[in-house]
Amino acid sequence: MSTPTDNAPAPSDFIRDIVAEDLRSGKHAKIQTRFPPEPNGYLHIGHTKAICLNFGIAHEFGGLCNVRMDDTNPEKEDLEYVDSIMADVHWLIDGWADQNLGLKKAGAPFYASDYFEPLYQFAQQLVRAGKAYVCDMTPEQTDAFRREGRESPFRDRPVEENLDLLARMKAGEFPDGARTLRAKIDMQAPNVWLRDPVLYRIRHAEHHHTADAWCIYPMYDFAHTLSDYLEGITHSLCTLEFEVHRPLYDWLLAALELPKPLPHQYEFARLNLTYTVMSKRKLKQLVDGKFVRGWDDPRLPTISGMRRRGVTASALRDFAYRIGITKYPSLTEVDALEHAIRSEFNKTALRRLAVLHPLKITLTNYPEDQTEELEAINNPEDPTAGTRKVLFSRELYIEEADFMEDPPKKYFRLRPGGEVRLKYGYIIKCDEVVKDSLGKVIELRCTADLESKSGGANSNRKVKGTIHWVSAAHALEAEVRLYDRLFTVPDPDAGGDFKDFINPHSLEVVTAKCEPSLGEAKAELRYQFERLAYLALDPDSQPNKLVFNRTITLRDTWAKEVKKA
Ligand code: ATP
Ligand code: MG
Repeated sequence: MSTPTDNAPAPSDFIRDIVAEDLRSGKHAKIQTRFPPEPNGYLHIGHTKAICLNFGIAHEFGGLCNVRMDDTNPEKEDLEYVDSIMADVHWLIDGWADQNLGLKKAGAPFYASDYFEPLYQFAQQLVRAGKAYVCDMTPEQTDAFRREGRESPFRDRPVEENLDLLARMKAGEFPDGARTLRAKIDMQAPNVWLRDPVLYRIRHAEHHHTADAWCIYPMYDFAHTLSDYLEGITHSLCTLEFEVHRPLYDWLLAALELPKPLPHQYEFARLNLTYTVMSKRKLKQLVDGKFVRGWDDPRLPTISGMRRRGVTASALRDFAYRIGITKYPSLTEVDALEHAIRSEFNKTALRRLAVLHPLKITLTNYPEDQTEELEAINNPEDPTAGTRKVLFSRELYIEEADFMEDPPKKYFRLRPGGEVRLKYGYIIKCDEVVKDSLGKVIELRCTADLESKSGGANSNRKVKGTIHWVSAAHALEAEVRLYDRLFTVPDPDAGGDFKDFINPHSLEVVTAKCEPSLGEAKAELRYQFERLAYLALDPDSQPNKLVFNRTITLRDTWAKEVKKA
């Protein structure tokens, strides 16, 4: 599959400008970035932006990008998440920037928890330099004092006592929350992050990577800054909410008097997308509350959900590059994502005939035991995709919505007495409408103009509408999962509980009638059911039980809905 981000011109933004200048000036000889997820959930499309930025820069400037588990929160983290994160990162970068992946050992990511020992030594070093102290206040007191700008009564403990208490914290002598290690900076600093932030806390908890080796755990800022340093990161790219942490990042590097070159942190605006929620915490609520079928539910904005839905890695990367990198918070329309998917699939998807909501038609003037093969184009955008034969016969299925008994003016599909062309085939005329006892239309009896197909005497005869169809006797059945947006409002986070805005119709399952060639559908290919949608096989699919996911409709039907409303 194509990698548009390799064919397209290299993007430009303020971070890439800085990186280029740092290479030009010789400040750095080689670029080293990192992607540092906390393994407390599955990755989502917001992470796609961060991955494509960090790997993109490494790729474009001949550097490396480390994947580092930011795993300092044992209670919330899990091995399942580590594994899913690595699977998702590989899926997104393989074939594009996999040669830029920095790895510790074959296949293994970096872990902040691998640095617990050197981090502890850094902590001791700060204590010895009089730049950190052990504080006995409770977490609540600490927060209150920091808000009020008041100094802890333990702030001026002698170095020896601090070293002793820190060692005893590490040895497990004290219960959770009894003591912390805090940086000694400035309790009056306008930036609260500099008001003696906590560097270590006590947690007697089993860790997914270090088991029970530690009962004190470093806080985010301390672990993140120094992990960046230990890995030789040159450009540490964070989302905007970390801008206020940057003075602390710089303070830690300076306080430890570390030899240069030092990493530098830069911030960019996170991706927010309409009609979805993004944080792992909220996605976990949807999974745990069984609002969806799992982390890889195709309705979720998780990378694994989108992969299952049929979205390709190249379309996601294309999207990430199109939205660009800025410093201004914004809400991106989901249309931008859908556009990236449609423009790729329009070029790559194989066209097939399938009917999602079948209505039977009988061609009364077509011989009962006749079948013929009609020539159908596999992809009008790609002549090399060739053609195939589709079977035609007396009894067919068409889409329910392609017939209306009493249609409005501009309806160019089938109506009583009306004509329409069957794609690749004949013009037919609706002679009779058959209904069941409840008045529901169950069959149309039609006649075909047998001279109207390609090559026939009437082949140039024009009718307004063309519809798709499948031969009833030859049709394969497939389960098709039709997904719609998971939320009914553009910004489910705008107020109240986001779960109140879940779209009750986000999944419809139908049994479709498909042309026989779809029996050979392949998981790695994308299909367009003509006039309907782009689809991909679901992993639930089996040789004799086809299951398709509708990745995306052909057009944006929501834009119309919104206009109507
Ligand atoms: P979440 O709230 O979903 O847990 P997070 O920022 O806590 O997000 P991390 O696992 O810590 O998630 O993120 C790893 C990296 O991905 C960080 O560098 C973070 O800034 C980046 N990131 C997370 N969400 C987004 C987003 N929506 N847009 C861009 N980058 C993001
Ligand atoms: Mg987080």
